[in-house]
Amino acid sequence: MSGFNFDVITLFPKAFELINNLGVITKALDKNLIDLNLHDLREYGEGSYRQVDDKPYGGGAGMVLKPEPIYKAYESIRKSPNSKTLLMTPQGKVLKQKDLARWSTLDQIIIICGQYEGFDERIRYLADEEISIGDYVLSGGEIPAISIINGLTRLLPGTLGDSNSLVEESHNSLLLEYPQYTRPSIFRDMKVPDVLLSGNHQEIKNWRICKQIQRTINRRNDFFLKKELSNFDEIYPDW
Ligand code: SAH
Repeated sequence: MSGFNFDVITLFPKAFELINNLGVITKALDKNLIDLNLHDLREYGEGSYRQVDDKPYGGGAGMVLKPEPIYKAYESIRKSPNSKTLLMTPQGKVLKQKDLARWSTLDQIIIICGQYEGFDERIRYLADEEISIGDYVLSGGEIPAISIINGLTRLLPGTLGDSNSLVEESHNSLLLEYPQYTRPSIFRDMKVPDVLLSGNHQEIKNWRICKQIQRTINRRNDFFLKKELSNFDEIYPDW
């Protein structure tokens, strides 16, 4: 195995073609920093129809993924000792940046994507963690899986041009990022703040942290309830 391995069990492997057109991720694949192994659930289906789903016991709407094909697909995957299995479900723990950081030290992530009305409850036993990408319901686990692959890959050494860009960004520093500008300094009467053109690094630093605090209060004041922020002095020693 080379690089970080993503193994995905899915009924719709074609959905992952998107990954080949996603900048940083495409480069990571080209440089063999990541490997994406798609396991087509249909190939593990049962009978001549390759059946993967069935009606729920006890009645109710829709179809549910059967356990056997998913277990078979799972057992066919070569597992590294430093691996975790994630099950995509809107009932899971909501994905946070710190989860991506935590998983980036592994060398394999196995992702199980649900479809239809969901999956047989016994499939949960395969998972180390059940993950939701937000409090809404999609039709399948493919987009959640792509989100995880995308977010995790950009944290791997060698994928982003400048690893400093990871340090200050939103959700890493507990405060949202400050506003960013690039040339031109005046665009359709909208002016870049003078301080950013001043060349005064200390003032720029102060302005940025003020903006970070202001932005976080305006948009995500729930962050201030996080216990980590009570260590403000340690996190922002210059302030
Ligand atoms: N009836 C199920 C939802 C089924 S949605 C329930 O109430 O729990 C079909 C599949 O899409 C799920 O099995 C899951 O794999 C995926 N999915 C949908 N929304 C998701 C979300 N917010 N996060 C992660 N996976 C999701």
